[in-house]
Amino acid sequence: MGERKSSALPRTKIRYSLMRILTGSDLSHRRLPLMSAVSPEPGPTVWLTACSHGDEIGGIVVIQEIFRVIRRWLRRGSVHAFPLMNPIGFETATRHIPVSSEDLNRSFPGEPTGTLGKRIAHRIFETIMDSGPALVLDLHHDWIKSIPYALIDSDEGALPQGARDRTREFAQQTGLPVVMDSDVIPSSLSHNLLRREVPALTLELGESYIVNERNVEFGLGAIWNLLDRLEMTEPQAERFQYPLVKPSLLEETLRYSDRPFSSRTGIVRFMTKPGDMVREGQPIARVVNAFGKLMETVRAVGDAIVLGHTDSGVVFPGMPIMAFGLEPGEKKISP
Ligand SMILES: [Zn+2]
Repeated sequence: MGERKSSALPRTKIRYSLMRILTGSDLSHRRLPLMSAVSPEPGPTVWLTACSHGDEIGGIVVIQEIFRVIRRWLRRGSVHAFPLMNPIGFETATRHIPVSSEDLNRSFPGEPTGTLGKRIAHRIFETIMDSGPALVLDLHHDWIKSIPYALIDSDEGALPQGARDRTREFAQQTGLPVVMDSDVIPSSLSHNLLRREVPALTLELGESYIVNERNVEFGLGAIWNLLDRLEMTEPQAERFQYPLVKPSLLEETLRYSDRPFSSRTGIVRFMTKPGDMVREGQPIARVVNAFGKLMETVRAVGDAIVLGHTDSGVVFPGMPIMAFGLEPGEKKISP
């Protein structure tokens, strides 16, 4: 966050509480932490959510860092957070809710009498909706070798135009590369918020499993940019911008692609790294067999920025090798 001038602000109220989601067979309670910072000055309500995938830990720390200083910087409106939406998955470092094998971010908008995942999703979703949110930022993490980016829902999902347009504007304000998803995911948190006309953005902040302090800083930069844009905080002296090799691409909406898939089996040897720019037809990876013999040279399908490398050292036919943000004007890569 940039340097700001501090002034006498009305007292923001900070509240930490716990929302009960489940009572265990030993009568212990499973609860969701809930954090709130409410300025006495009316203004927009922004939500931060993290760790719906239990192995994606860094977003929790981003929220903790925001709340560490929010009392000093919030001048109007409210910031609320569910920092740990999947506590059972978190404690076992698994993406899903282990006891029901459900993906919480494929369980929205939820159902009060549905499966465990849908019940938790319902509590989260209704709590967010009841607050009349202006923006929801859902924090996620990607492959081990990946750069941060703001992911917006696919425009093929028949979502309300107004919320989509506002989400795209917010995405451009993050200072991160902006990438539009290739698939419609109808049961995600962001998709269901957009359906209810709430701007919602997914921030992919580098690797899962650990806290990468550099990616925490990128996430904080993006969130402070947005709170500043909404005039909720003291003005920033300096706006965060991700150090992209081609900075002009920060003005564009890139399109997500995980093509081409591998067409052979073998060990993958990457020839480019996350953050690199590649040209259509450029060799991006080699697949070699157990003797080191080249089985396949994989080439970029378009001009793009490399978003990440697969976590797998071995690939099979039909497996994604890398993810890309295709530059505007690149032809649609159909599945
Ligand atoms: Zn995730």
